[in-house]
Amino acid sequence: MDKVLGNLGYGSRTELRKQAKMGLITVNGEIVKDSGAHVDPYQDVIEIAGERVFYRKHIYLMMNKPPGVLSATEDRRDRTVLDLLDEKDAAFEPFPVGRLDKDTVGLLLLTNDGALAHELLSPRKHVPKTYLATVEGEVGQSDVEAFAHGVELDDGYMTLPAKLTVLSRERRNVVISHISLTITEGKFHQVKRMFQAVGKKVVFLKRISMGDLSLDESLPEGKYRELTEAELKLLG
Ligand code: URA
Repeated sequence: MDKVLGNLGYGSRTELRKQAKMGLITVNGEIVKDSGAHVDPYQDVIEIAGERVFYRKHIYLMMNKPPGVLSATEDRRDRTVLDLLDEKDAAFEPFPVGRLDKDTVGLLLLTNDGALAHELLSPRKHVPKTYLATVEGEVGQSDVEAFAHGVELDDGYMTLPAKLTVLSRERRNVVISHISLTITEGKFHQVKRMFQAVGKKVVFLKRISMGDLSLDESLPEGKYRELTEAELKLLG
């Protein structure tokens, strides 16, 4: 325990030994007077004088956002992505990096690292985000070209060049197109509004990457995991 807490900057071994003797340190709610006791900083809840000890400052989570939950930190009516977190992860107070619509699924990053969030969201950085979508209507070459040039949204905004790829089409009652789209900005409902601008309707939307980070396809919707070191590096 003194080694773990010492490494985290909670004092010298002597100081920690004293604090433990005084009964100021608890592990999972129990007072631990022996500062040499074994603790697992990843699992145990350690408190010094009632203050929770975090084994590190930042947390980086990749979630496969399910439909029907908001990518907000709180809402009076709806469940948010924070409601899907285990208590031990929620204790870090992470927040979603950017927004996905309630019905959009896929890659959502949650962190309490404000600097990284800022880097990823800064409009100047043009971090690419790739989406898979199902679109009602026949998406074709003219749409690919329109998106490559930029389209005018309902509020008059001209989008930056975006890469649209038609993956497949199928005929149900109407023609349905499966596409991928990479955009480098993040206006409100951007993908849906880009298709609206060319007279088509997005009926399913999933984000699969952000920068060089791709959604782990083995994560079921509603589940999340910590980023690996390698994934974290990809985000710069
Ligand atoms: N574009 C949208 O329209 N919705 C999202 O959730 C993300 C991008």
